[in-house]
Amino acid sequence: MKIIRKECNHCGTPYRHTLSGHINNPELNDDSHCHECMGVILKALDSIPKKFDYRHIKTDEVSVEELLAAKNALPKTLDGMPVPRRCFPELYNLNTGEWTKTQQIPYNGTKYILCEVTKGIFTITKRVLWDIVNDKEHHG
Ligand SMILES: [Zn+2]
Repeated sequence: MKIIRKECNHCGTPYRHTLSGHINNPELNDDSHCHECMGVILKALDSIPKKFDYRHIKTDEVSVEELLAAKNALPKTLDGMPVPRRCFPELYNLNTGEWTKTQQIPYNGTKYILCEVTKGIFTITKRVLWDIVNDKEHHG
């Protein structure tokens, strides 16, 4: 646990900021505001509901073949190894005895999640900014 001394950007009070997260009050552990000021900020923000969030939605705007081709076209390192990408743990299906394989593939500026649920059966999802108020994907 690394703790650094800081001064609050608002009131100037010296305080201790825990880089790995505060154990007792993680929401008050801020790198620019003391615990007292952060408490006031959080209380004020409670009156404003969250309006946007990120979600993964299923999409058919790209095919499995396109994504697999894009995966094969990803840049390689000088020694021919694939450039490191985000990886996901494989899940074992007790009923079918198969492993679910999930990978993130960038294609045309979007990061798609290609999941092989069972042999030859794929789902494709993408991360989008979701408009919670209107319950739809946010564009723009
Ligand atoms: Zn303060």
